[in-house]
Amino acid sequence: MSEILVVVDHVDGAVRKPTLELLTLARRLGEPSAVVFGAGDAAANIAAKLGEYGAAKVYAADAAEFADYLVVPKVDGLEQIAKAASPTAVLITSSGEGKEIAARLALRIGSGIITDAVDVKPGDNGMVATQSVFAASFTVDSTVSHGIPVITVKANATSPQPAQAAGTVENVTITFSDTAKSAKVVSRTPRQSSGRPDLTEATIVVSGGRGVGSAESFSVIEELADALGAAVGASRAAVDAGWYPHSNQVGQTGKTVSPHLYIAGGISGAIQHRAGMQTSKTIVAVNNDPEAPIFELVDFGVIGDLFDVVPQLTVETKTR
Ligand code: FAD
Repeated sequence: MSEILVVVDHVDGAVRKPTLELLTLARRLGEPSAVVFGAGDAAANIAAKLGEYGAAKVYAADAAEFADYLVVPKVDGLEQIAKAASPTAVLITSSGEGKEIAARLALRIGSGIITDAVDVKPGDNGMVATQSVFAASFTVDSTVSHGIPVITVKANATSPQPAQAAGTVENVTITFSDTAKSAKVVSRTPRQSSGRPDLTEATIVVSGGRGVGSAESFSVIEELADALGAAVGASRAAVDAGWYPHSNQVGQTGKTVSPHLYIAGGISGAIQHRAGMQTSKTIVAVNNDPEAPIFELVDFGVIGDLFDVVPQLTVETKTR
């Protein structure tokens, strides 16, 4: 069976959800092999988790370079593994780092690259990657015509489904290039944790828009999010006004989310906002304008003042 390489994204020994999505996707394309860099003592636990999601093989490479230097050591590693394994495709999460690794890898191995895919399927002429463009107004299907396709896939493109496979670990020793040490990590400042789930991985997202009115009033959105164990999102209008950080922006120029439940408070539903949330399984909106375009999209719409409605939802959630 053809081998599909999946580059593993892990933090503090935990595999991130987008990697489990990639493994789920890879199973439709061939036999997934996972590539883990710099896992240290956590390698065995990580390999076990990857096996639970269908990784037949886990290439594990460990060296200080993976933690101390920016992306080039991983590119060195992937280049060597890809050249030895000749996979049918390489799948990488569409993060900033993932896209840089993908671009450098494609150049090194003389391949074509497709970024920000929302789906990948086997086709008559190789892998067909689907991209969603112009704020999700159109989809584009592309194939790579030369070399091993290197494809970055957006988080939440699919939902992770477990399927037990061997997860056999193959330790790999990487020879680093001269450029591996050209950019060094000089310090790390952990982001202050809100204690809430990661926006792109959350199963429930509660977002606020311009209708929230101020940074202080976002507490209304946060209280509902905390009652539901949800992440907090924001429209660009709220972010541009300085009420919430850009890292929480949902939409075309923010994050793409696809939770089971998306609640929008005081958001009109502009096409650029929809681009980041319209694949959510259930969408609820609270808006005081019955003509707001978001109501064309919702499963449940509440016409009303969010400062009346959202606190009631919070109270109701807490009593259940
Ligand atoms: P508005 O459109 O002003 O809507 C506010 C809503 O709140 C209104 O519907 C109003 O009826 C309602 N409201 C007001 N008060 C209350 C109340 N008390 N209770 C209930 N409802 C109330 N936008 C994004 O969100 N994400 C993106 O990534 C993004 N990228 C963009 C990229 C480009 C290139 C461009 C041009 C635009 C982008 N935008 C993006 C901006 C987008 O076009 C909209 O301007 C933005 O989404 C509007 O945000 P909003 O819905 O919060 O504000």
